[in-house]
Amino acid sequence: MREYQAWCFDLDGTVYRGKEPIPETVRFIRGLREKGAGVFFVTNNSALTPEQQSEKLEGMGITAAPEEIMTSSVATAEHLLKNHGALPVSMIGEEGLRTALESAGHRIVRESPDAVVVGIDREITYGKLADASLAVSAGALFVATNSDKAYPTERGLVPGNGAFAGLIELATGVSPFYIGKPSVPMLETLADRHGLKKEEMIMVGDNYETDIMAGIRFGIETVHVDTGVTRTEDLAKFGEQPTYALRTLDGWTEN
Ligand SMILES: [Mg+2]
Repeated sequence: MREYQAWCFDLDGTVYRGKEPIPETVRFIRGLREKGAGVFFVTNNSALTPEQQSEKLEGMGITAAPEEIMTSSVATAEHLLKNHGALPVSMIGEEGLRTALESAGHRIVRESPDAVVVGIDREITYGKLADASLAVSAGALFVATNSDKAYPTERGLVPGNGAFAGLIELATGVSPFYIGKPSVPMLETLADRHGLKKEEMIMVGDNYETDIMAGIRFGIETVHVDTGVTRTEDLAKFGEQPTYALRTLDGWTEN
């Protein structure tokens, strides 16, 4: 197993499950920090700011600076800025998305946006969906933080951002541009920001269809862990395989 200098970890199902840390990953990350390796976090969760996410990790014994945490909201704001400049944007979403858009210099507007950005919004209303659909039909760019159709909670799977973006797509006939994993803009933005080279990066995640696919599409090596969505025995169903498949990160041994 090679030495990697930039470890990119998915969060839910990889570092923790909801509020419960996954001890093997926490130990592994501590070891990486002691060796001085780069540790980064890449999450499709658009609701929390990097600062809030950093506090959550701190509570589990993991030190993470906000700059080391790439959320789909931050990547969305950066991607828009890089490709279209600062824009008047209308959004469906929570604090993580609002903060990311404003920090990048976009202006949040209700009327005549140049872009409609959709992230998870647990106070979504018909009015918000109607406004977004009307703006998309009028020609605004349509960007969604991530395509997760559902996400796990203590009660089971509940609608995710992909379900809401899909509703607007169904109503307008316009497909959104997705930022989160399995698309590559999050890893791209992280690499740009920290000057990381692909050959020194490795993506660790529990979900083949998001984490591992994002790593494969971006062209970096990957580790699948069996602590969340995709079971190890189901990996064979998929085409290109992760570089490493482990039950947990306790199985990672360097020669
Ligand atoms: Mg996950």
